[in-house]
Amino acid sequence: MEASEALSGRPAATPEETDCPRCQGPLSVLPATSIHSLGFKLVRRCLRCGSRRTIGHAPCWVYTCTGCGLPFTGNELLDREAQRCDECRSSEEFIADPVPALVQATEVEIRSALRDLWRFVRGPGLDTYLNQILREVAPHIPGAPRHGNVVVCDEWTVRSLALPSGTIVVSLGLLATLNDEAELVFVLGHELAHAAGGDAAVRLLRLGFHGIVRDTEAAGGLTWAWAAEDLTRIGYGRERELAADDLALRAMCAMHYDVTSVERLLNRIEQRMEQGDPALAELAVSHPTPRERARRLDLSVRWRRRDLAEARVNREVFRRASGHDVLKAELDPVDFPVEAAVEIPELSRGREISWPWIGIGAAAALVASVAALWLF
Ligand SMILES: [Zn+2]
Ligand SMILES: [Zn+2]
Ligand SMILES: [Zn+2]
Repeated sequence: MEASEALSGRPAATPEETDCPRCQGPLSVLPATSIHSLGFKLVRRCLRCGSRRTIGHAPCWVYTCTGCGLPFTGNELLDREAQRCDECRSSEEFIADPVPALVQATEVEIRSALRDLWRFVRGPGLDTYLNQILREVAPHIPGAPRHGNVVVCDEWTVRSLALPSGTIVVSLGLLATLNDEAELVFVLGHELAHAAGGDAAVRLLRLGFHGIVRDTEAAGGLTWAWAAEDLTRIGYGRERELAADDLALRAMCAMHYDVTSVERLLNRIEQRMEQGDPALAELAVSHPTPRERARRLDLSVRWRRRDLAEARVNREVFRRASGHDVLKAELDPVDFPVEAAVEIPELSRGREISWPWIGIGAAAALVASVAALWLF
């Protein structure tokens, strides 16, 4: 024990890591992001090799469990196949996807929590435009909810969140990062891919129930808000994020948008991350590095480009409806639509999902409490 540690009774501060212990590259200059479900540990990603690491006392690696999709930490550098949390390693128990009533109850909890957590705005032209594009993209994402809507969050952080019903939350900061309609189609397609097949539902449920077990009274009713916030900050794990990119790109091709827009978007995001723009800090932790995303899409872009000589970007249409002048103008504050009809699409059957720590009782209690809310 260090002398200072012995005197203060607290662990001595470790000198901050400046280089990535995996690739020895300089660590990102972006601010670190706090993750509730990791005990508010601060996390950042190496923009060179893509590893995530906590900062502060006793830094460790951060992974997304390939079994249950929850974040966990470890002192060892793990291969992708070995990135499973302790619960998933010790349990062989698998159950089918959660029933729609449970997903519906969860979404009502999340919507209610979001209303108090973030501020939302609307502009008649902006809303009409975003919802029209979402409706056009949805049929091109397999399994995506067809009756979703876009809600704009009054935040200049680059942030997005897909809810199981297909409601997509996008921040002003995210919209301001986009230059044309092709880029908007990519972003909405990526989020719809998360909502498709129950991915958003499963993660929100797990983060929420994990929070209920962990937080007890300390969270003061913030458990569901923290679940939503953690999902925007930790993402769905590398493979699911890259798969969502691929589905979004396929949708763009089918809709005859210029897929090279995505390369331009990822390049701009990478530049801003390298300059340390704090608005990009959450995105840097939740998604693979822009370089890796661009690299994975590059092959597809090359072979699809042959058919896309006439592909569109609709830059002027986008600027008039959702450009900087619109976003900087007076937008009206609006409540998050908690009571809106929440229609949950059928979840894909047959996927094996580790569900080792949710008691049936807890699930039933949530359904019962929400049912009671509806009755009264
Ligand atoms: Zn690294
Ligand atoms: Zn797990
Ligand atoms: Zn994503």
